[in-house]
Amino acid sequence: MPSKKKILILGGGFGGMHVLKELQKKIDVKNASITIVSEDNYFLYTPMLPEVASGMLNPRDITTAIRYFCVSAKFYQATVFSVDLEQKLVTITRKFDGKDHALEYDYLVLAVGSINNFFGNKAIEENSFTIKTVEDAIELRNQILLMMEIAAQTGSMGLQQKFLTFTVVGAGFAGVETIGEINHFVRKSVKQAYPSIVDTNINMILISSRNEILPELNKKLGESARAYLEKVGVRIITNVKAINAGESYVELSDGEIIPCTTLIWTGGVTTNSMIKSMNCEHSKDGKILVDKYLKLKEHSEVFALGDCAAIPDVDTGKFYPPTAQHALRESKIVAENIKKTLDGDSSLKEFSYHSKGMMATIGDKAGVASLMGHSISGVLAWVIWRTYYLLHLPTLETKIRIGISWAINLFFGTDLTRIGETKMKNLHKVEIDDTPSLKDQLLSDL
Ligand SMILES: Cc1cc2nc3c(=O)[nH]c(=O)nc-3n(C[C@H](O)[C@H](O)[C@H](O)COP(=O)(O)OP(=O)(O)OC[C@H]3O[C@@H](n4cnc5c(N)ncnc54)[C@H](O)[C@@H]3O)c2cc1C
Repeated sequence: MPSKKKILILGGGFGGMHVLKELQKKIDVKNASITIVSEDNYFLYTPMLPEVASGMLNPRDITTAIRYFCVSAKFYQATVFSVDLEQKLVTITRKFDGKDHALEYDYLVLAVGSINNFFGNKAIEENSFTIKTVEDAIELRNQILLMMEIAAQTGSMGLQQKFLTFTVVGAGFAGVETIGEINHFVRKSVKQAYPSIVDTNINMILISSRNEILPELNKKLGESARAYLEKVGVRIITNVKAINAGESYVELSDGEIIPCTTLIWTGGVTTNSMIKSMNCEHSKDGKILVDKYLKLKEHSEVFALGDCAAIPDVDTGKFYPPTAQHALRESKIVAENIKKTLDGDSSLKEFSYHSKGMMATIGDKAGVASLMGHSISGVLAWVIWRTYYLLHLPTLETKIRIGISWAINLFFGTDLTRIGETKMKNLHKVEIDDTPSLKDQLLSDL
């Protein structure tokens, strides 16, 4: 009996989770075993993170346990520490006791996404909120609520302004959707429940280093989003960068200093140090360079996709953009090519995809969308956004949860409860070892 091939997927986000789903449909468990490793034990539906930050949705609405998708696969909640391409060995650090373990593979899928890029600016990193994880969204919502509570208790207009100034740096999808959401949330909440706050003290600021916002969409839609946001009270500052920040200010490259206690950074992403340290070809920004079949040139058993992969677009000569939409399409090709390789079929499938549309929400019942060459803005774009994303949620349960949360928000006021910090139990001293650690394995080899 030939031994079962080991398929190892790293990352349980848009790329990894969809490769898992596709492989489980295509592959006979008698021939191969599948293992997925991810830092969190859930899949996160990132396009709806800004709605969690504003309290429109609950964190559970946009997360689904990875085990839910594991029909025949094994799941490890752990951090991938390193990948040894020569020995076909992945080192993972378990979440609950911090111990290292080694996993062998025959086929490897790299889908660990991206991390925030502060471009080495420590002051901004230390003094800003981000919107990449569900914890980020919870922290941001707590911060917004805290600022409103503090502002409501001061009679000083200067302090109220400082507490109620929210500055978002980065005017791509994440930044624009975040400012749109929190602008609506803060203004509505103040009107509804904070009579001591003077609404002219609310300042919403969006900083773009380019001369436009939403560069992912066309110029007309970027301008339309800008006009809408300015109409609802957002100040948009273009052609500047945030260069410094403290607890209560942000400094811009044109010399302006904005007094504010909430800075939200969406200024860029990069790959994590584990990906950068891998011994293979990388793009200039540190992503894993793959060929048109989404595999490494030097290691045909290793595939990469999503935000951590640099995938050449032969039509444009550029790399495909890092979006969930692309990661989903890439996952189908990766799964198909692994199946073909397992079957000994060398006619691998090429990845080629050109997006038929992009859209963003920009506030209360407002959106912008570019669909099959048509530019749509306003309520219709917002309805299309909601319908599209609702339909593409991974489970019926999340669809129902989100449908209910949206309905509640249509008929009732915003929820202003601020749930505090939680405590995590440390299990470092508890011996829960079941298999030899990597260090033990290596020492016994000496
Ligand atoms: C606020 C926001 C809004 C967005 N809106 C849109 C949108 O509207 N449309 C769109 O197409 N895209 C959108 N995106 C981009 C989209 O989320 C990403 O392009 C997409 O998630 C990339 O998929 P991925 O699988 O590469 O990474 P991810 O989905 O980020 O998944 C990476 C996975 O790897 C895990 N991981 C990371 N490091 C390790 C490690 N060392 N060890 C183990 N596991 C690890 C993570 O826990 C995660 O599960 C948005 C992103 C954000 C942040």
